[in-house]
Amino acid sequence: MTRHRKSLYRTCISCKSADHVIPVVYGPLTPRLAEEGSAGNLYYGGETVMLDNPPWFCTVHGLLSGAGKPADAITAG
Ligand SMILES: [Zn+2]
Repeated sequence: MTRHRKSLYRTCISCKSADHVIPVVYGPLTPRLAEEGSAGNLYYGGETVMLDNPPWFCTVHGLLSGAGKPADAITAG
């Protein structure tokens, strides 16, 4: 497991900025995830976990970004 690509590609494909970009989390929805999601700390991407899931979400444009890149969003639990 490599976990040192943290902020790489963390930009919106539309505004090219990381200011409003939050991590996308995939997997089973937990109470903590729901809480973080409603607080705007992350975006819940669904239960299906795949390697090319977009790891970033722009809250301004409602766009997912980073498809095809290694997912390094924080994980559930
Ligand atoms: Zn944007």
